[in-house]
Amino acid sequence: MRMASSNPLPIPPGPQPRGAARDTGTGARDAGRRDLLAGAMRLAAASLAASLARAAGAATQPARFDADPFSLGVASGAPEPDGFVIWTRLVPDPARADGGLPPVPYELRWEVAADEGFSRIVAGGRAVAHPELAHSLRVEVRGLAPGRWYHYRFFAGDGAHQASSPVGRARTAPAPDVLSPRLRLAVASCQQYEQGYFGAYRHMADEDLDLVLFVGDYIYESSWGRDPVRAHRGAEPKTLGDYRIRHAQYRGDADLQRMHAAAPWIVTWDDHEVDNDYAGDRSEDLDPRFLVRRAAAYRAYFEHMPLRAAALPDGAAMRIHGRHRFGRLAELFVLDSRQYRTPQACPKPRRGGGNIVAVERCPELFDPRRSMLGSAQERWLDRCFSESAARWNLIGQQTLFSQLTARSESGTLVRTDGWSAYPAARRRLIDSMRAHRLANPLVLGGDVHANWVCDVKADFDDARSETVATEFCATSITSQGPAQVHHDRARSEHAHVHLAESEHRGYVVVELKPDLCTTTLRTVDDVRRPDPAIATRARFVVDSGRPGAVLD
Ligand code: FE
Ligand code: CA
Repeated sequence: MRMASSNPLPIPPGPQPRGAARDTGTGARDAGRRDLLAGAMRLAAASLAASLARAAGAATQPARFDADPFSLGVASGAPEPDGFVIWTRLVPDPARADGGLPPVPYELRWEVAADEGFSRIVAGGRAVAHPELAHSLRVEVRGLAPGRWYHYRFFAGDGAHQASSPVGRARTAPAPDVLSPRLRLAVASCQQYEQGYFGAYRHMADEDLDLVLFVGDYIYESSWGRDPVRAHRGAEPKTLGDYRIRHAQYRGDADLQRMHAAAPWIVTWDDHEVDNDYAGDRSEDLDPRFLVRRAAAYRAYFEHMPLRAAALPDGAAMRIHGRHRFGRLAELFVLDSRQYRTPQACPKPRRGGGNIVAVERCPELFDPRRSMLGSAQERWLDRCFSESAARWNLIGQQTLFSQLTARSESGTLVRTDGWSAYPAARRRLIDSMRAHRLANPLVLGGDVHANWVCDVKADFDDARSETVATEFCATSITSQGPAQVHHDRARSEHAHVHLAESEHRGYVVVELKPDLCTTTLRTVDDVRRPDPAIATRARFVVDSGRPGAVLD
């Protein structure tokens, strides 16, 4: 969404609206069509699962490749005390939806070693890359020791034609009963490919991280912004083949690949992995077939991310939210605020997606039934909070959580795509943290293409109310931010905002120790250069037992 510069709210710039809806239909007709679509997609998912099961017994192709089949590199994710997921995809030709391979299965070999030279191999085996999943492959490695680094690689083909993948590093989570001295992770989001090079990852690879948390906008479906440095391949993706090509183009970036090879990633999505500002089954242009598109986008996302096999999409449904334990030091809850959310309140006429509205003229905003996470995920998160015994509790979600409004002549303005337009849902999440006395909650996010550091208040309208959690919303890897003047104003009008800066791209490093969290805002000098310089913009600390950010 693009706003007039007179708008006082800092709105992340985005794609231009694409005109009015082709078919808005009646509500009932839409609901009926959605049921039909959902049914059709469940059938498609069943046949995907069935064809994967059939393919498991099928003969595989003796492999010979005209070009490097490991052109997208390797990745790891979902660290557990005894293992992690390792991922690759065979793609000799990333410009093609089929990756340049015939629709037959290929057998790969994989190895996990305790050392970089692979002299001490601790796990290995064979696995099949299926054409149904674009020849992507994930292995859930088990039987490893906790809290340790390992190296992994894949091989395809035989004898003289054998191709080997780059070597990746992954670290197992600490044992459940261990209070580790340290956990260090980076928070990243929003990497519009055309607007800059991914040089931030060159520096992130040197940060000595245990983990990367990516909170959304891994690809962008649309082209927008000033002065592009490179171009998307093809038009806006709509089909599975389109989304595969888009993911392959992003993952072909050498710096992004290098960071995936350097540490395990835990990922969640925001809107641009599918379509700008979508909410549940409603797209910005009210596309009546949106769930078909969402199914294609989710499947391509699954194929390209180091997620557990359990995340295999069921049509347009894919579970990505989850919890990740790091011994007694930390637990990370990763949320999905797109798939199950109530559509944005008070949209523009005949459109879905976000808007800027005066809260006085949009009473719907305050309807307690409205939810960012959906009721099932809300209940799940509340249960997680009740069960967590971790010293630090990280809530990895998509966007700015703390209250952000702007006074204007027409009233108190709010951006309807953000948490401030779901006040009852935010209230429930904060109340859940308080009710369960959740230890040291840290809210981590992205989406707004700016760094924000905030205190999450029991009541944002009362500056003296209890600080319940600390929020670090990380700036974008490349995506262009809104003007700084709006952030200066937001900071002056909101006592809970410590920092709001939109002019720098980069990432945030969160280092947890038993008694202290240190958060460093790392920014690059110029995304238009492939090899930018890195700098620290600011550093904040949070003492265990005392929520709220303190400038270091
Ligand atoms: Fe973004
Ligand atoms: Ca977004």
